Amino acid sequence: MIRPLLRYGAPVLHEPASPVAEVTPEIDRLITDMVQTMYAAPGIGLAAPQVGVSLRILVVDISIGRDLNGLIVMVNPEFVLREGMQLEEEGCLSVPGFNATVVRPARVILKGLDRSGVEREVEGNGLLARAFQHEMDHLDGTLFVDRLRGIKKDLIVRKIRKLTKAGKW
Ligand SMILES: [Zn+2]
Repeated sequence: MIRPLLRYGAPVLHEPASPVAEVTPEIDRLITDMVQTMYAAPGIGLAAPQVGVSLRILVVDISIGRDLNGLIVMVNPEFVLREGMQLEEEGCLSVPGFNATVVRPARVILKGLDRSGVEREVEGNGLLARAFQHEMDHLDGTLFVDRLRGIKKDLIVRKIRKLTKAGKW
């Protein structure tokens, strides 16, 4: 089931998510919905708070379904390693229509549970490292806009405020 995506300003997007106590059938259904919602958008990653669920779950597939092994599901993910730096344009399904250059680590290793509840470690470089860091930020209530500074940030926040007032957000 494709779930509605929340946008910047929805409270659940701006608060830290809670750990998942156990990977139950209900959590598994949520993960299925998150994957479907991500592919339908289409996007390369999605975090549970973006569909209104304040739990520490992320899904990432930088191939957007083209690579059969591309899908990564992480429950209660934690950083094992973050190193290097990359600077690229980035967007977010919860901030549609806006892009900005964001500083991210070049390499990330995450540790967490897969959807069977088995602990796994996954390494990401380049775009995958960026996607991991972006979705991990969501689990802490941080959006890419929050990582910007100065004029660029003010501009986006002001435009979103205007759109919200006009009922177009
Ligand atoms: Zn996002």
